[in-house]
Amino acid sequence: MRIANRTGHITGGGSDGWEIYYRTRDLIAAGERVLTLTIGEHDIRTDRRILDAMHASAAAGNTGYAFGPGNRALREAIAARTQARTGVPTSWRNVVVTPGGQSALFSSHMVLLDAGDVGLHCDPFYATYPGTVRATGATARRVPTTSDAAFLPQEAQILARAEGARTLLINTPNNPTGVVYDRATLEGIARAAQAADLWVISDEVYDTQIWQGEHLSIRALPGMAERTVVVGSMSKSHAMTGSRLGWIVAPQEVAQAVETLATNTTYGVPAFIQDAALFALGLGEGFEAEVAAPFRRRREIALRVLQGSNAIRTIPSMGAMYVMLDIRATGLSGNAFANRLLDEERIAVMPGESFGDTAAGHLRVALTIADDRFEEAMTRLAAFAERQLP
Ligand code: PMP
Repeated sequence: MRIANRTGHITGGGSDGWEIYYRTRDLIAAGERVLTLTIGEHDIRTDRRILDAMHASAAAGNTGYAFGPGNRALREAIAARTQARTGVPTSWRNVVVTPGGQSALFSSHMVLLDAGDVGLHCDPFYATYPGTVRATGATARRVPTTSDAAFLPQEAQILARAEGARTLLINTPNNPTGVVYDRATLEGIARAAQAADLWVISDEVYDTQIWQGEHLSIRALPGMAERTVVVGSMSKSHAMTGSRLGWIVAPQEVAQAVETLATNTTYGVPAFIQDAALFALGLGEGFEAEVAAPFRRRREIALRVLQGSNAIRTIPSMGAMYVMLDIRATGLSGNAFANRLLDEERIAVMPGESFGDTAAGHLRVALTIADDRFEEAMTRLAAFAERQLP
């Protein structure tokens, strides 16, 4: 007896990049105080009103099997929100509700890639990206970006890697870099996608967390709606990470394929969760701004504390719940810096190397602890970095 090769193929046999996270967890379990800036999750819980809506729906009997692609009312609300924010005509038929953005990423790749195909993703990348591409049986190929160009994907780099590829996965606002793609960057990506005939899978789960610039969806560029799948989620915008509610917005043919996949995998999202999501969307942009506000404040704290540092250069921090720091002036790798910082200062941050080769010598700091403790962490991190200078 043996298990299939598929899951081994997903990890690619390498480390999963989360060693610092596991070390931190062990230290905390042993009673140590660690300022933990690793995971991208809010330090608030889901709003009481959303939980009440969830409970009311379940208590009213919405506990049976849910309809595969999502309730019509929720799909309409997601379509209307997408249309209002991007100007692109969007019908509920373009929307499929999934158990979180991760499932939306997986479903998109499953319906667009066959085994043996090539799927592109940018480097640095959110941890699951290569595995998600490989889970389809396809090969994941990286499009490198550079720190000096704010890790923005360049048209020429995409074209240079596009031979034989069928999909390109992009992410704005970006995890891990906190960079928001500008119009010129998106236009370059769109030109490359059209020239190489690529589907674009656009992960926009951080679209409500913008500190500088504006969020633009590549789906709104001319000729792109028919080749773009947008991935959305309630996790980050509404602090509903545990509820597992995301979606795709895609051409109808793609949406129907995702629905077929859902019927044979997840069976859809529980109806009481969908009702809670519909209620939460109804709270409007004011609520989304409230959920985003702590990250906005802490990003400002980070910029203030790190201003003028000789050891740390901040990558333009424009959105999402992270700031990325270039610590190459210290001569340390991100891994060495992060491990030493954890050993000596009991501060946990993610090494850039966990997110791809191009982020080597960088750190990702999650803006996810209370302001006073966050300021303490950044102040000590900055002093620690100065002491590492050669
Ligand atoms: N995309 C990105 C860039 C993320 O950072 C995350 C979660 N950290 C996800 C997708 C998946 O989120 P969820 O499944 O909770 O929607």
